[in-house]
Amino acid sequence: RLLTIEGGEGAGKSTVLRALREALLADGFEVVSTREPGGTPLAERIRELLLAHGDEPVHAHTELLLMFAARAQHVQEVVLPALARGAWVISDRFTDSSYAYQGAARGMDVDFIAELERRAVGIEPGLTLLLDLGVAHARERTRGRDLLGGASPDRIERERDDFFERVRAGFLQRAAQQPGRIRVIDASPDPARVAASALAALAGYRAE
Ligand code: C5P
Repeated sequence: RLLTIEGGEGAGKSTVLRALREALLADGFEVVSTREPGGTPLAERIRELLLAHGDEPVHAHTELLLMFAARAQHVQEVVLPALARGAWVISDRFTDSSYAYQGAARGMDVDFIAELERRAVGIEPGLTLLLDLGVAHARERTRGRDLLGGASPDRIERERDDFFERVRAGFLQRAAQQPGRIRVIDASPDPARVAASALAALAGYRAE
């Protein structure tokens, strides 16, 4: 089954991923942990293009299509084969990130994103954990991390609080639309408590 972890930078996605992975491994399952953008050598190269593109701005359509190109490759090469052999797949980000970043934050049309999802991805997670954190708090945690890798205009726009506010609102709107699949987890407590909430959500899902 496919689990995804979503949220802005600094929300603690990696810690939660490790906790879920360990719980499932302890129960004897095969677990494939992966991430987006990336997850295969080609998709990781697309990630590098997106994150370190020098001075040339990445236009919103370019970014959207590269994200989906990476995702299509990731789904075909990693996610579907793993699901087919009965493994659990845990992905740090998946399509919901595109609704939040490329859609809500960068203004790409939601119907276009949905069409790309339907045609190029074709699968939806069984459970998505949205780690929700206020923008000021996230900024404190990510201080010192190099998230930008350049000073092109689109990168500078991303540094602004209103960009992150739009990302956060985009995620919360998705969660409100799909409350059965997307569980919102308060990411402001310490990592151990956030991990405990994530494990409780996983247990609830497994009991469904
Ligand atoms: O998950 P991680 O923080 O490693 O993501 C790397 C970067 O890619 C982040 O800065 C995030 O803003 C960006 N991203 C994006 N659109 C996506 C997924 C990630 O802009 N769909």
